[in-house]
Amino acid sequence: MQNSLQNSELKDREDVAETRVSFGASSASALFDALRQNKIRDEEVWGLGNRIRICSERENHWIGDELHNTETGELYAGNGNLWSCGSKLCPSCVAKASNRSRKELKLSLKNQKLLTGEMYQFITLTIPNPGLSLIQTRAVIDRIWTLFRKRDYFKSKVKGGSKSEEFTLTENGYHYHYHLLCVTRFLNFNEFRREWSECIEIAFREFNLPCEFKTEDGLAMVKIKRLSSSASGLKGAIQEVCKYVTKSDSWEKLPQKDLVEIASIKRFWRMFEIFGSFRAQRNANVVLESPNVFITYLLTKLIVEILKYIQTGERITILDTKQISDGECSSEFADLPEKVPKRQKEVSWRKYILENGLESYFEKLAEQVEKTRYARKCFLSLKYKFATFRTLDGVSFSFEQL
Ligand SMILES: [Zn+2]
Repeated sequence: MQNSLQNSELKDREDVAETRVSFGASSASALFDALRQNKIRDEEVWGLGNRIRICSERENHWIGDELHNTETGELYAGNGNLWSCGSKLCPSCVAKASNRSRKELKLSLKNQKLLTGEMYQFITLTIPNPGLSLIQTRAVIDRIWTLFRKRDYFKSKVKGGSKSEEFTLTENGYHYHYHLLCVTRFLNFNEFRREWSECIEIAFREFNLPCEFKTEDGLAMVKIKRLSSSASGLKGAIQEVCKYVTKSDSWEKLPQKDLVEIASIKRFWRMFEIFGSFRAQRNANVVLESPNVFITYLLTKLIVEILKYIQTGERITILDTKQISDGECSSEFADLPEKVPKRQKEVSWRKYILENGLESYFEKLAEQVEKTRYARKCFLSLKYKFATFRTLDGVSFSFEQL
C-alpha cells in the first residue's frame, strides 16, 4: 500500500479530489456569505448550501488505488465522492455530470457515419452581452438557440451534434456562449454567421433589448473549426465540450445577488445537450437525471444483501459488472449498472424542508449521508476487492474491514 500510494496516477487523483474539496468548500462559503449579507432566510437555499458543504467534506471524498477494469484487467487509480449533493454549484457533482456527458458524447460519436460531403466541426456561437443577470442572459441565449435550430438553414446543414454552454464574467457582464461539436455539410462562414445573427436580432427584439454587433461587418462572432474525424482529432473537442461546464471557481466571482438567484433555481437547466443524429444512440446509454436515484438504488440493494450476508454468511453477487468503464473511471458513474429500476419516488429534499423545516431536515440529511457513505464504501470495496481505498481525511477502508 505504501508503494502504491506513491504512484503518480494516484497522486493525480488525490490532487483532483483536493481541488474539488477546496472549491466546494469555497462555493458553499461564498453562498453562505451572500445569504448572510443579504439577510436571506429562504430555508431551501440554506439547505442547498449545507448540502454542498457536506458534499465537500474531506470524509466524503475517496481515492483508491489498483481498481481494475473487469474486461481488460487494467489497473487504475480513481477518486470520487461517497455521497452526492447533485448541485450545479458543487464542483464535485458538476465534474461528475461532465464525465457523464463525455461518455454520452463519445458513444454518440462512435455511432456516427459520415456521408460524402459531411464533416465534423467545432463551432463556438457568441452573442453580444445583453447586460442582464446570468439567468436572464441564459433565457435570451436559449431563445436564440431555439430559433436557430428551427431554421431550414440549420436543418439542411447540421445533421446532429452536441451543445454545451459556458459563460465568463467580465467587467462588462456575462459573456455567454455555446460550443457545438457536430456533423455538418459544408458551411459558408458568412452565411452561417448571418443566420445566427438574425436569430439574435429576433430574440433581442422579443426581449426588448437593443442589439448591436461590434464587428466590422455587423454580424455576430462565430468560430468554426473543422475537425479531423480521427479519434485524436475529436478528443480535444470532446474535452472542450464536456469540461466543467461552468468553471467551479467562477461561483466565487459572481455578484452575490446572482449567486443567490442561481441557488434559488429549483430545476437547473441542462447545460449539455445532444441533438439530431447524435441523439439516435441516446437510449443505449445511461442517462440519469439525478445521481441520488442511483445512490438510493444501490443503497437499498446493498443493505438488503449485506444484511443477508451478515445473517447467513452467504456471499451473493450483487453487482452488475456488465457496464464497465474503459479504464478512465474516475467517477462512480462509470461503474454503475445499465438500467435504473423504477422505484417509488422519495420526497425531494426541497419539499421535505418546506414541510418539516430546516432543523428536521438537517437531522434527516446527516442520517442519509452517513448511510449513503457507508453503502458506497461497501459498493466500492466489494466491486474492487483488491483495491485500496481511503477518504481524504485519512481513513482507509477495504473489503475486509467493512
Ligand atoms: Zn456535490
